[in-house]
Amino acid sequence: MTELHADRDAVRRYQCTEAKDARIITVHLDQAVADMLDHQAMPEPVKMLCQELTAAACILSNMLKFEGDMILQTKSDGPVRLLMAECSSDGRIRATAQWDDAISATSFRGLMGTGYLAVTVEPSQGERYQGIVPLEADSLAGCLNQYFENSEQLDTRVWLASDGVQCGGLLLQRLPSEGGYDSEAQDTWSTLEVLAQTVTSNELVESAGPLLAYRLFSEFEPRGLEAWPLHFGCSCSRERSARAIRALGESEVVALFAEQTQVQLDCHFCGQVYLYDQADLEWLLSDQPPGSDTLQ
Ligand SMILES: [Zn+2]
Repeated sequence: MTELHADRDAVRRYQCTEAKDARIITVHLDQAVADMLDHQAMPEPVKMLCQELTAAACILSNMLKFEGDMILQTKSDGPVRLLMAECSSDGRIRATAQWDDAISATSFRGLMGTGYLAVTVEPSQGERYQGIVPLEADSLAGCLNQYFENSEQLDTRVWLASDGVQCGGLLLQRLPSEGGYDSEAQDTWSTLEVLAQTVTSNELVESAGPLLAYRLFSEFEPRGLEAWPLHFGCSCSRERSARAIRALGESEVVALFAEQTQVQLDCHFCGQVYLYDQADLEWLLSDQPPGSDTLQ
């Protein structure tokens, strides 16, 4: 099974012999998102949004080509209070969400309410970068397009879709051209945009890969480059989890352990349970991580 899906859970780039200024990227996820959300009992609309956000994180991570994590997060006052999706430079994805118990809304705006989408680039080395855009569009893709408009100098459009089981995405970006674009290049770009806009949610969900790229842009002869495989994985650890407890502050931690014999912390991303007992208390309070300033 893993072999079979390795080909599908992937980001792919395409080069067009007939449109050299265009960057085309697709992403498709099925087994990887199933593994990712397996232990999270999300209602269908939340699951779909979570998958779309993950697909977007994969495209952005691949676009930037850096060592580290690409993190997309929404925070809003609607029934879906939080969505978070990560893709690391080694193709590892994870995601989680927070939502209200009763969800009756079906539209993106109804589900999200008012809030923002944050795009965070967290390189293994170097400075973290964050860009924020308000959730004003009618879809996640729409919000991302707004993000690209604000932050990228390059014309960029993204399409995302999920059916709750699998999901897919497409990105079209106009690369810079030395000396500007001549009229032929302008025409080519306009045609590519028109063709890309014909993509349907069904196509993205079913076949966001070489098949879709050839179907949409056949006249420009897209050539698929090597696939970048994606898989579910969590970067949580007992130490990282302990850091979250330490962040409460010494008096809070002491009070917590006075109330209960064991303190339990569950990882929202993977369901891993971390237990700390009285024997860990001293370690929890003394072994501060480098740079930690959370304890007085
Ligand atoms: Zn975890």
